This record gives sequence, C-alpha cells and structure tokens, in this order.
Amino acid sequence: MNACTYTVPPVLDPDVMFDELEKKIKESCPGFDTGRIRAAYDTAKMAHSGQNRKDGSPYVTHCVAAAEICVDMGLEEDSVISALLHDVIEDTNITHTDIAHQFGVAVADIVEGVTKLTRVQYTSKEDEQMENLRKMLMAMAKDIRVILIKIADRLHNMRTMMFQSPEKQRSKSLETMEIYAPLAHRLGIQKVKWELEDLSMQYLDPTGYCEIVRSLEDKMPMLESFMDSMKERIQRRLDQEDIKATVFCRIKHVYSIYRKMYSQNLSLNGIFDLCAFRVIVDTIPDCYNVLGVIHYMFKPVPGRFKDYISTPKPNMYQSVHTTVIGSEGIPFEVQIRTWDMHHTAEYGIAAHWKYKMEDGGSAVRAGDEDKFAWVRRLLESQQDSDATDFFHNLKIDMFSDEVFVFSPKGDVINLPAGATPIDFAYSIHSDVGNHMVGATVNGRIVNFDYALQNGDIVEIRTSKSAPGPSRDWLNIAKSGSARTKIKQWYKKERREDNIVRGRAMLENELKQHGLNLDDFMDEEFFLNVIKRFSFTTANDMFAAIGYGGLTSTRAANRLKDEYARTAKPERKSAIDKMTEAAERREQNAQKQGKAVHGILVEGLNNCLVKFSRCCTPVPGDGIVGFITRGQGVSIHRCDCENYLSHMQHEQNEGRWVNVSWASEITDSYVTTIIILSKDRTGLVMDIATVLNSVNAKVRTLSARDNGSGNAITHVTLEVKNATELKNIMAKIRNIQGVSQVIRNGK
Ligand code: MN
Repeated sequence: MNACTYTVPPVLDPDVMFDELEKKIKESCPGFDTGRIRAAYDTAKMAHSGQNRKDGSPYVTHCVAAAEICVDMGLEEDSVISALLHDVIEDTNITHTDIAHQFGVAVADIVEGVTKLTRVQYTSKEDEQMENLRKMLMAMAKDIRVILIKIADRLHNMRTMMFQSPEKQRSKSLETMEIYAPLAHRLGIQKVKWELEDLSMQYLDPTGYCEIVRSLEDKMPMLESFMDSMKERIQRRLDQEDIKATVFCRIKHVYSIYRKMYSQNLSLNGIFDLCAFRVIVDTIPDCYNVLGVIHYMFKPVPGRFKDYISTPKPNMYQSVHTTVIGSEGIPFEVQIRTWDMHHTAEYGIAAHWKYKMEDGGSAVRAGDEDKFAWVRRLLESQQDSDATDFFHNLKIDMFSDEVFVFSPKGDVINLPAGATPIDFAYSIHSDVGNHMVGATVNGRIVNFDYALQNGDIVEIRTSKSAPGPSRDWLNIAKSGSARTKIKQWYKKERREDNIVRGRAMLENELKQHGLNLDDFMDEEFFLNVIKRFSFTTANDMFAAIGYGGLTSTRAANRLKDEYARTAKPERKSAIDKMTEAAERREQNAQKQGKAVHGILVEGLNNCLVKFSRCCTPVPGDGIVGFITRGQGVSIHRCDCENYLSHMQHEQNEGRWVNVSWASEITDSYVTTIIILSKDRTGLVMDIATVLNSVNAKVRTLSARDNGSGNAITHVTLEVKNATELKNIMAKIRNIQGVSQVIRNGK
C-alpha cells in the first residue's frame, strides 16, 4: 500500500460502471426497481453528454459513482435515483418539473435540495461559524437524504481530487474537514467520516500524511503478526467460553493517529495502540461477557474503560471500549458491540432503514442525547411504516425555529425564524440598525418586513442621515435583541424630548398634591430623592419618566413624602395646604359621584379600596366588595374562586357589599393572566412579541415548565379595561403551542 503516490486511472466507461452498479443493486437491494434506476442513468447520461470530468472521463461517471456510494451507505431507491440525477439541475437544462414528471416529486425535491446546497458558497471561518454553516446546510436540506447524497457527492469528489488544481485541492479539503466530515460524524456514518478525513488530510498536510503512512508500512510486518496472534488468542478463548463472536482487527485510520500525535505531542513510536480490535456478538449480555473474558486474559489499562452501551454517544454510537496490555507489553484497544450496534456505527442513520426495517425490529435506543433527539423522535414515530414511507417522512425539523443567512462577507448569521432585515441589521451592530435605510436580499431590494430565508445573502444599506428606527420596527422585528436595541435608541436619542415630557408629567402629578416643582428644585431632599432612584441629575430622572422607566406617580409620591418629612416649621402651612387639597379632591370626587380607584361602594363613602390579588379585577368585570378588618374594602371578581368559596360562610355574613365601576375611568389596572402551553424554545419570546405588538404594559412575565413538557407562564400587566384584556388574551391564544389563556382566580 502506498497512498503517497497516485496511479492515474484509465478513462472510465460509464456504461460498464453502471452495469456493475446494477448488478450490485440486484444482489444487495432486491426490492429496487432497476428499470427506474436505469432510466435515471439514461437521463443523466444524456443531460451531461459532452461534459467531462477533470480525468477526461464522461461527467456521468461521477453520478454513477455517487449513486454507488449511496447504495453502499444503504440508502433506498429514490436516493440512488436522486444521486444519479444530483447535478442535472445545476449543470444541464433539466428542471425540477422534468424530474418530477419522470421520477416523481420526491426525487425532484431531493435533487433540487442538493442543488441548493451546491450553490451555497463559503469560505473558511472560525469554529462557531462552521457550526452555523453545518446547521444551515441541515436546515436547508429539509430532507435528510439531501445531506446524505451531498456527502456521497463530496466523497467521490474527494476520491478524485488528484485531478484538481492545488488551490482547489486545499479549499475543498478544508471544507470537507470542516463541514462534511463533521456532518457524517453527526449522522453516525463513521466509515465515510474516516475516509473523508484521510482524503482531506492528504491535501492539507501531505508531508504529515505520508510520514504516518510510511511509518505504518515500516511497522506493518510487526503489527500484522501481533494482530494475527492476538486475534487468534481472543477468538479461541471466546470459542472455549461458548460465546458466539467474530473478532476483527484493523489499523486505526491515518487522521485519528495524526490527531493523537498532535494533541498529545507524540511521535508515531510513542503511540502504542495503532490497532483496534473489534469483537462483534449477538446480544448485549454477550458484550459484557466478552469484556469479562478480555479483562481476564489481559491486564486492563485503568481509566480507559468506556461503556457507550448504557450511555450511547449523541450520534447513536454504542459499544464497550477497553484498552488492555497484550503480549510484550503492547497496549491495544478492544471495542465490543452487537451486530445491531455495528451497523449503526458503520452506517449511522442509514442503518436504521437498511437493517432495522428489514428485521422489523426496534429502530430506537434509549439514552440518546438531545442533539440526536430529533432523529430519534422521527424514528420512533415512523417505526410502523414501511421503509419508503419512513424515509419520505424523515424531514429535518431540528432547526425549524431558526433561519441562517449570509452577510455580504460570507458570515453566517443565525436568527429566529421569520426574522426580517431589521433583525439582521441589529444583529450586526446597533449602528447598522439605527442607520438602516434599505435592504437587499440576493441582490434584490426587499421591504423591511421581508421574512428571511435560509441561505439568503443579506445586505443592509445605511446612511449617516438616516432618521433612525421608526416605532413600527418594534412590531416588525422578530428578535428580542433587535427590539431592545430599538428601544435603547429611543431612550438615548430622544433624551431631550424625554426630559421635557418627563418634567411636565411630574409637574402635573405634583400639582395634584398641591406642590410646585420649581419651589424645591434646589433643596437637598430633592437631590436625595434623585440619588435614591439611582439617578445623577434631575434631568436623568425626568428623562426616565419621559420614556417610561419610572412612573411619575412613584416619583411624585416619594417627593411628597420627603417634602413632608423634611418639613421645617415655616413649611407647616404648605403641608396643611397640601393635605387640605387632597381632602378636597376626595370630597369632590364623592360629591360628583366619582370614585376612589374607579370604584363606587354602596352605602360607604370615602372608604379605603383595594383590589384583591387573587383575581385582579379590571373595569368591565362583574365585581363584589368584601369589608376587611382594618384594610377597607377588597374588590373581587364575581367569578373569583375565593369569593365563590367564601361567600356562604356564616362568619362572613354582612361583610359582602355591592360595588360598581365608576362611569369614567382613567386609571390603568394591574391584572394577571395565566398561559398554558407546550414547553418549547422561543415560547417566552413569542409571548413577549405579542404583548409588545399590542403595546401591553407588562410588569412581570415568568415562565416555568411543569415537568411534563408543558409550561405555565404568568403575565402581570396593566390594562384599561376588560375589553383590552380580552383582546390581548385572544392574541396570545394564537401563538403556536399555546393551549389555554386564563385569568387568575379561576
Ligand atoms: Mn456532484
């Protein structure tokens, strides 16, 4: 074996290749319609006629090779057909409609999906960008077969990379290492992952690669005799123990040795476990029996035992690993697994329809981590259907609530699904958002509310003289961060306005208490109050009142209290005046039939009124009053659970009184609603978005899951009346996953 020099293969005859593929399919995939597959080959051959690969072979040889990889990976008929046709939309006149007409919509969709992925252009980026890129590809693919065919396509291109220019070799290898090998790994296709890694490494570090290959060749006689003797010893022993097992042995793949050398700073001679043994058995108990035998025969290396059977890897990989010391003190690794686990390790997700569907056995194992949960979920829901159906329904829903788009520089930006150019602009920088005057997507001008699609290239046009965000943007933006930044802009840029507005609001509020702001602007207590609210200057406080960070009522109450507390004798009269004014106001209210807090209590004048916390009534609700001991009348809703259960009690007799809402109400009322929903990511965001869109004054919003995949969210907000509340509740009910929206107290 010598992988460092290439022998140039002869120009290939596609017809011969396809005949061989057809033979293979007839042998290993008896259910396939070879007539249909041959028709796909004929179509591809005709469409690509006149096009050649870099090695001089007709282009269609690449399509046949990709299809063969799909057969080897265990994919089903539509995938093999799609692989034959995977480049026709991109490179020939054939359209989605043509393919759908001849081979069905499923095949046409897959081919189109592969085409879309092919069109994605990327340059090498940092790890985080790569992760986004991989997610973007997954999200764009929609059907997992698209990814699998794209991987097969890439594998063949890597196998024939020697015909490309050095620049292309490097860039494609880097891309393979960063995108396709991790994707193959995530889908659990170890065999393909290894081959992709080794092929890429040949171009990324040819010297390092050749060094390892040559050293391995030098060691080969020694390694082979060691492997043969160990394999024989283990097999014999297992036969004696009456355990049905097959022992395999292999040299580890080049890139894994390379990585180990670099991560542990070792030379090849320093790495002992160059070979890996694999024992494959029929049952899980036998896995552990074999482990016992191995540990009895050889001394285990402490800390190297790993049980991926009880705790599978995220990509569904299962095996027991152990490292032991063999003859002459050479350590080696043994992997023990069942045939089921073996197929999963080799073929990943593809194993599930290739092997499991034929057996009719369970395709799912417990304990998979979240990363693969979507696959598991799909597998679970598809267990009973036949393989084709299963495949057809195997859609990728993993990233359904995210969208991935490109910046003009090629960075992948990850936004919530439905995000708009406004979200994109603010995700780049507040300044970009604040100075945005327009947006283009894939070179075309779009509206600000355009919903971005996966793979879109988004460009924001900005101008120094931009007027800044409009209030509408708060409703258009889908991401919380964009809305926060827009609000921040209003807070900052409109400071002068806010100061004027806030000051006027406070003056007005103080006037109600008979106080004049100008009278005490310079006094110490005023400055203390400002400090107590954590502001530096009076203008800061006015600005906060202006944009709604502090209510004028709260500020005025504090000022009033402090004014009274620091009262000097000469001020007495002022305080008296103030109290008088307040009393007069209340008396007037009574006289005019106006009410305290908008409530009229039958038979009681000027009484203290408070709203019960259990049911938080708002104007428009049917209400009833309860005379508390020393705290005035507490107001309940007529349908309040507390009221309904206590109204009959003897001890409460005579304490329930009739109350009503005043005809003119200007206050806002605080109330609480409860939202029952599925517990999903983005839910709180969606609720907040809806609340924001109706300009609800939210005081608190808290969500918690109740353990069974459901969530309960409490929202406390201010409303004018029951009609406004009803509207808000109706809007929330429309949010995806929300099952019930109720008021508290019920
Ligand atoms: Mn291709």
